[in-house]
Order: sequence, then C-alpha cells, then structure tokens
Amino acid sequence: MNAPTTHPSRVLIVEDEAITALDLSTELAAMGYDVCGVVDTADAAVGTAVRERPAVVLMDIRLANGGDGVETARRICAQHDTAIVFLTAHSDEATLARALAVSPFGYLIKPFRARELKVAIDLALAKHSRDAAATRSLRALATTDALTGLANRRQIDETMQAEWRRGLETGRPLAVVMADIDHFKAFNDAAGHLAGDACLARVAEVLRTACADPGIVFGRWGGEEFLAILPDAGLDAAEALAWRLVRAVREAGLPHAGLEPDGVVTVSVGAGAIVPSAASSVDELVAMADRGLYAAKHAGRSRAAAAPGERLRP
Ligand code: GH3
Ligand code: MG
Ligand code: MG
Ligand code: MG
Repeated sequence: MNAPTTHPSRVLIVEDEAITALDLSTELAAMGYDVCGVVDTADAAVGTAVRERPAVVLMDIRLANGGDGVETARRICAQHDTAIVFLTAHSDEATLARALAVSPFGYLIKPFRARELKVAIDLALAKHSRDAAATRSLRALATTDALTGLANRRQIDETMQAEWRRGLETGRPLAVVMADIDHFKAFNDAAGHLAGDACLARVAEVLRTACADPGIVFGRWGGEEFLAILPDAGLDAAEALAWRLVRAVREAGLPHAGLEPDGVVTVSVGAGAIVPSAASSVDELVAMADRGLYAAKHAGRSRAAAAPGERLRP
C-alpha cells in the first residue's frame, strides 16, 4: 500500500555511501516512490528538504564531511514537517537513544531487504498523516469556543498580537469591535441558563454572518461578549461594522424572555482603532472598544459607539 493518493510519495535519500544511495534510489523508484533528491551532507539534506518538501526522509546517521544524521533530522523537522526514517548500520544503544529523541517514524538497521524498506516507509507515511490529523483536531479544539463554534479568547488574543506586530511594521491601523448582549442577565433569570445558552449561540451565529468578510476574525471574547478584529482598518470601518452588528441582531428578532412582551434580543457595540506603536498596546486598543461599548450602553443600548473623545456617529 503506497500512499492512498494519486501522487507518488516524495522521498529524500540522505546517504553518504554512493553505491548504497544509488541502490536505494533505484529500488524506491521501482516501488513507485518519487525520489526527490539524493544527498550526502547535512547542509544539502536541510536545503533539499526545505525546497522539495518530501513526505519521508531516509536518513543515514554518519554523513559526509563529519555530518550527523540525528542533528540533521532535527534541523529538517524544525523547518519542514516530515517523517524521518533512520537507515543505519549503527544499532548501539547510545545511537538509538539519540535518534529516538527526535521522534523518528522508523529506524531500519542495515543491511535490510527491499520489502522491509517498503513496509518502513509506508508505516512512516501512515503514522505521519495520523499525527497530522490529530494535531489539526487538537489545534481546532484549543482555539474554538465549544458553545458557539467561534474562535475562542485564546485565538482572538493570538490574532490581535499577530496583527499588532504586523501593524508595527506596516504603519497601518488596527481596529476592533466589541459586542455585548443587552440585559442578558434578565434573559437567564426569566428563561433559565440553558435557554440563555441557546440564545447566546443564535446571537453568535447572527453576528458571525454579519461579520462575513474573509479579512475579519470574529470570536467569543467571554461570557456574552464578542470581539471582531479588523486588520488594516480605521475607526470608520470599525464603526460601520459595529452598526451592522447592532442592526443584524435587532432584525433577527430573537424573543427576549426577560423583557416586556415582544421585546427582542439586542446588542450594544463599541468600536476602537489605533495605529500600533511602541507607545501603545493591544490592551489599549481593547480598552478603547470597551469604553465605546460602555458609552453605547449608557446612551440607551442597541446602538454602536466609539470611545468618548473619538468620533461618535448617530
Ligand atoms: P447589560 O445590558 O448591561 O450588558 O446587562 P447584562 O445583564 O447583559 O450584563 P451583566 O454583565 O450584568 O450580565 C451578563 C450576564 O450574562 C450574566 C451571566 O449570567 C450571563 N452569561 C455570561 N456567560 C453566559 C453563558 O455562557 N451562558 C449563559 N446562559 N449566560 C451567560
Ligand atoms: Mg554513512
Ligand atoms: Mg457583559
Ligand atoms: Mg450584557
């Protein structure tokens, strides 16, 4: 079983004995793999791996010019996620222990038969793709809010920090918009916490749809509060989005259990924008949006506002 794709798997051979390298290359090609390089030094191995992005690297332990295969594997893995399979005549405990420290996907002691090599490569490919899938789902779990399916606080924080650093380089502004459900405690008190959760999830969906712009990162900031990040945007764009969110939730007409009959769920939204600089910080940007939100609440809720001192729009 070669990889279950239509493309042959790319294999890089790192081996300093020319005859062994040639034999390997011929065997692998006959088995249907795509040999994307045959190299004998550490530097050539790293350079070729980064350029050719092989799925598997067959790595000898003693390389030309005194190079060390274990260290070379470590350097490759730091730059390209690949399955390392050590091929070596060294079966001593110390070498094996060193090799295990870089989490290889296989270890074959020379001499080996072609059949063993094929099994080792296919096992390495299977293990590597399973690991990659597990890493992806762990990453999704760690960055997603369970109730709403939106980006969670951690993801929002990371994105804001990354956009802030980018803004420091580009000199472009960065904007955030913070939305908070109005009178949500009253909703919970009247309908119960579970109904509150369901309402929260529906508001999240309405807001997410209203934020649908590939450039905007939108998530749950915490509790019944949401935050949108607008890279390369100033206060005008932030205020426009803030009002769009206010209108979208109002027009969704979700009944508010804790208000007078016919009362609907609404949000208040604050907007802030800043050109990142060493004199300021992400926290200051969030505080601006928070002051805007506070102003919107005080002006009567179900509306948007920038921080006092910034522009306000009716
Ligand atoms: P305001 O208009 O000033 O925002 O009033 P509020 O009642 O929404 O504000 P407050 O901060 O007093 O209350 C927020 C409420 O949101 C209280 C809390 O129980 C509720 N809440 C926060 N997170 C959740 C959640 O995950 N599920 C539910 N059901 N309720 C939540
Ligand atoms: Mg060697
Ligand atoms: Mg709140
Ligand atoms: Mg609230």
